Amino acid sequence: MSFSFSLNATDGAARTGVISTPRGEIRTPAFMPVGTAATVKAMMPESVRQTGADILLGNTYHLMLRPSAERIDRLGGLHKFMNWERPILTDSGGFQVMSLASLRKLTEKGVTFKSHIDGSKHEITPERSMEIQKLLGSDIVMAFDECPALPADRERIAESMRLSMRWAQRSRDAFGDRPGHALFGIQQGGLERDLREESAEKLREIGFEGYAVGGLAVGEGQEAMFGCLDYAPGQLPQDKPRYLMGVGKPDDIVGAVKRGIDMMDCVLPSRSGRTGQAWTRRGQVNLRNARHADDPRPLDEACSCPACARYSRAYLHHVVRSQEMIAGMLLTWHNLHYYQELMGGMRAAIAAQDFAGFEARFHAQRAEGDIERL
Ligand SMILES: [Zn+2]
Repeated sequence: MSFSFSLNATDGAARTGVISTPRGEIRTPAFMPVGTAATVKAMMPESVRQTGADILLGNTYHLMLRPSAERIDRLGGLHKFMNWERPILTDSGGFQVMSLASLRKLTEKGVTFKSHIDGSKHEITPERSMEIQKLLGSDIVMAFDECPALPADRERIAESMRLSMRWAQRSRDAFGDRPGHALFGIQQGGLERDLREESAEKLREIGFEGYAVGGLAVGEGQEAMFGCLDYAPGQLPQDKPRYLMGVGKPDDIVGAVKRGIDMMDCVLPSRSGRTGQAWTRRGQVNLRNARHADDPRPLDEACSCPACARYSRAYLHHVVRSQEMIAGMLLTWHNLHYYQELMGGMRAAIAAQDFAGFEARFHAQRAEGDIERL
């Protein structure tokens, strides 16, 4: 069985469809929980699946350093290693080398750096990134790219984008013929429309199974990001999945889907779950807040996740304050459940040609804010 993408419906620029892979279908628009070190922190894989996730994201940079791609390969690949049978997308390692490693040296060939864990020296090139992602057994492999932090001047962005396009070609050449697996190219060009178009043209020329809008959510702010998304997805092929990397908050996600994005990932729901923050239909709720201490009501009475169905705000507040492990477990579950419900709601709305109505209800409910305190 091969990798394919079919669109079921569109509403304005928003799209809903299905990505088919030998490891299962991915309903789009899709949110991918982040399983950095071969685990979505605080969650069992079967629980992640129960929230409605069709696909996980794994981080090449983290896994190559510990426990190493070669070890995971010897142990049967990442799916078996972490007990997740469904599709996995891996990033190329480039972004995290830039954000986490020290003593980085960037050349035409690739990047050398020191591990943030033990200081050991490593190199990632487009060829090595393809090799690592193959050893991991990733279903969707990302091309190796370089992403400058914004703001950056136009010359720096152009130079970096052209290097990434040469690396995209080398990634395509090194990926080889792998039926059932996909390689996604990554569009760069910052907030410069003509550079985005030049990048998209080069990627279309090389040819990929999917395309990411890269280089956003790196400090430019929502308004600038949406400004770029007003044209960037339209520069990429209509008939292939479009992935916005590292986004985001619920309102970022709704705005991105509205503009034609099919896939997203973000650590936010899992990371904030470990710090007592919940994302709900009514916006963000901080369970550390003393107002919850005597509140017997659920976090969200309309949510069917275990945190909402079986526990009170008072209990969640107590375990957050006591730093009990179950606090991170319950709130991560709730946040991932909420994100997946949001995606499901958007898929249904696009299919029913009611995305505008969905968006209006989404914003109206958040504007109301959290339930009145007792
Ligand atoms: Zn819940």
